[in-house]
Amino acid sequence: MQEKIIIAGGGLVGAMAASFLARRGFRVEIYEQRQDLRAHDIAAGRSINLALANRGIYALEKLGLMERVSQLLIPMRGRMVHDIDGSCNFQPYGLKSEEVIYSVSRGALNGLLLDAAEASGKVEIFFERELLDIDFNGRRARFLDHSRGCEDSVSFDRLIGADGAGSKARGLLLEQARKELSGDDGREQIEPLDHQYKELEIPADARGGFQLEREALHIWPRGGFMLIALPNLDGSFTVTLFLPEKSSRQQPGFDALQTEAEVQDFFRQYFPDATALMPSLLQDFFDNPCGHLGTVRCAPWHLDGTAMLIGDAAHAIVPFHGQGMNCGFEDCVALDDCIGQSAGEWEKAFRQYSESRIPNGNAIADMALENYIEMRNSVRDPQFLLKKAIGFE
Ligand code: FAD
Repeated sequence: MQEKIIIAGGGLVGAMAASFLARRGFRVEIYEQRQDLRAHDIAAGRSINLALANRGIYALEKLGLMERVSQLLIPMRGRMVHDIDGSCNFQPYGLKSEEVIYSVSRGALNGLLLDAAEASGKVEIFFERELLDIDFNGRRARFLDHSRGCEDSVSFDRLIGADGAGSKARGLLLEQARKELSGDDGREQIEPLDHQYKELEIPADARGGFQLEREALHIWPRGGFMLIALPNLDGSFTVTLFLPEKSSRQQPGFDALQTEAEVQDFFRQYFPDATALMPSLLQDFFDNPCGHLGTVRCAPWHLDGTAMLIGDAAHAIVPFHGQGMNCGFEDCVALDDCIGQSAGEWEKAFRQYSESRIPNGNAIADMALENYIEMRNSVRDPQFLLKKAIGFE
């Protein structure tokens, strides 16, 4: 009887992991709590586009998907830094033309990955199924079927938790690890960031063109906070404001932006050039939710050969290095390699994966936190960059 692997979460990483497993001949079922994003618009206000970099591209190439994905991409050749007086300074990511990152729509990329998984003929996807509980010894998982309003119990040989930063699978796996294992096992550290984010939009101009330089990641660094914008294929930019939740003596926070006048004044004061390009600023600001950010570190990422975590479920990080998804895609390649090297010994494969990836996850988490300080502050300070280059920072 062929192994049945179930994946909780059909986001970017769960969908990619399914394709890697299908390529090895396994039968895979994905259980996703939301509706099918290919048929419903459910992305509003939640990181509409992302930066895709080499780690992610490598994984997509391994699956033979890069040709299709490349049609969704806009290269970003560097940072365009916008000063408060409206002047701009372009800082290329590298000297060679291939040293770029790419802006990609989350929904389009996720849809493509779900299509690819299904096209393998080995992957079945169940939407509106929310993971509630896992019986690790009996190898059954319990899901709430939101469309029918009832619960299902599903058997599995292996379970993969790809259910994102607030992962239910992580909580259950670590609880089980604490029961079964000894010493330090079953550790989880969650560090919320005191800054939140809000998504806004710079629309295309009347002829469908870009209102800012197309091939750049735009940043308006303002010391303790910042605005960024990434281009979309339709000529618009998705704009994200990162700001502390609470105001301090040095700077405003989201709590000071309650009325239309407060929002208007804040944007006119700190981002006058961007404000002029956002006709629906007030509507977007009040319609879109404030997103929370944080870092999750945990260990182990697996429970013997029964279950494991991947993507944000294992290592949620703050988005300032643009590496969360890229790192999750790299997890998929690492898992695939570990399965390939372990000749059917799942415990060995999961242990090798967990031990090799945890230090990487922790390192990128630290780098992402450090990069927030650089992005919101020092990208506008050439002296800082010079000191950094020669090792004084
Ligand atoms: P998710 O994308 O969160 O997917 C998890 C899936 O699991 C979701 O579909 C969810 O509905 C489902 N789910 C949750 N709970 C359950 C449950 N109980 N049962 C069943 N299903 C469940 N990364 C980059 O690489 N580059 C960037 O530029 C970048 N920018 C970002 C900007 C912002 C503002 C944010 C917040 C993040 C950014 N990231 C970026 C990080 C990136 O979004 C994540 O790393 C990536 O989405 C992780 O993918 P995932 O599949 O692990 O988790």
